[in-house]
Amino acid sequence: MGIEILIVDDDPIGGSLTNTLLQEAGYDTQLITDSKLAMDTVKNERPGLVVLDILMPGIDGLTLCHMIKQDPGIRDTKIIMVSAKTFQAEKQRALRYGANLFIEKPYNIETFAHQVTEVVGPPRGGSASVKPVETALNIQIWGSRSSGGQGLKTPCVSVETPKHLFIFDAGTGILDAGSEITRAARHKDIWVLLSHYHPAHIEALGRFAPSRQGGVQLRIGGPTDPDKSLSDAVRDAFEASFDALPQPVAAQIQLYELQEGHYDLLPEVKLSAFYANHPSTTLGFVLDAEGRRVVYCPDCELYGESASAMQDYDEKVGHLCHGADLLIQDARWTDADYDAHKNEGHSSASSAIDFAVRHEVGHLLLFHQDASYSDPALEQMEAAARETLKSRGSRLDCRIARPGLKLSV
Ligand SMILES: [Zn+2]
Repeated sequence: MGIEILIVDDDPIGGSLTNTLLQEAGYDTQLITDSKLAMDTVKNERPGLVVLDILMPGIDGLTLCHMIKQDPGIRDTKIIMVSAKTFQAEKQRALRYGANLFIEKPYNIETFAHQVTEVVGPPRGGSASVKPVETALNIQIWGSRSSGGQGLKTPCVSVETPKHLFIFDAGTGILDAGSEITRAARHKDIWVLLSHYHPAHIEALGRFAPSRQGGVQLRIGGPTDPDKSLSDAVRDAFEASFDALPQPVAAQIQLYELQEGHYDLLPEVKLSAFYANHPSTTLGFVLDAEGRRVVYCPDCELYGESASAMQDYDEKVGHLCHGADLLIQDARWTDADYDAHKNEGHSSASSAIDFAVRHEVGHLLLFHQDASYSDPALEQMEAAARETLKSRGSRLDCRIARPGLKLSV
């Protein structure tokens, strides 16, 4: 298949910036700096869009625009004119000749690809253009349900920075994460952070594939629980794993007992842990890396509107979550079911949404859905969440966390 966008710019620096921005957005592009070649290239390659600089030696951009729009064979080609020197008369002429859009240089790097997408549509290869131009953290959901069975996967979320990999919780979702990490072989030093030791959060730790690989450093962090220490929890998990995975543990394992507080995990990575409102000692985590903030709080009950004077949990945690790029939040119950499960340590979808809106987070993933909910029930929950947000005029991106869901922030 031919190219999607042809860029004609005599300035190699300006032209290659345009080229790079559009390639990063996912388009197949070609840059030519000799405008005399432009007409032939458009006829041969049939791009959907031509980006034309106005001031060029040879044939100038306005003349090219006119020629393309006069040629019955290629007149449907979309045209964006770009120019550093903007004269109102040129702009009007460009539009009169049939240009679809006029963009001034220097570009706004954040919005340029989006402006192009509005004219030509998303790239053929997929929706890369909806991503921000720079993405620093890649998040993937591997498991998200309150308990397993019938193919449901219990909590596990990975957060990958350009250099490091962090895994939150070791429910059965970690089995798929482990296979993928082993296959991709990008990381030999892996952090696994456990929120607490209820089975859904640790049951598959011992079967995490990288634990059987030599040369792997596995750093496991978790709370100090009076009923079960981190070392007991980890030992039990591995002892239970050998039937399914008889190979000896070959990774180097290091344990980190965590309490509420701030930790410098790595030179550019900070972790804050906070006690979540949930039976047993349970931590929520705030990961700060690459200038982004991700909050993982799989099991906790937000009090919402009904908080009493003694219940300052929402406030305490809200402070840490404020402005986070992503919040992965317990929303185990639909609003209808929550009443019957108050004070058990899990939140309703509405309280999660209220909380996320109040604290101006960028993306909200509703997490840890009750295992009794069917897929259509989850779809309804998601639709209801979107409806609520729309009626409030909120632009919060809110989705149900499902295995396979990927997000970049
Ligand atoms: Zn729990």
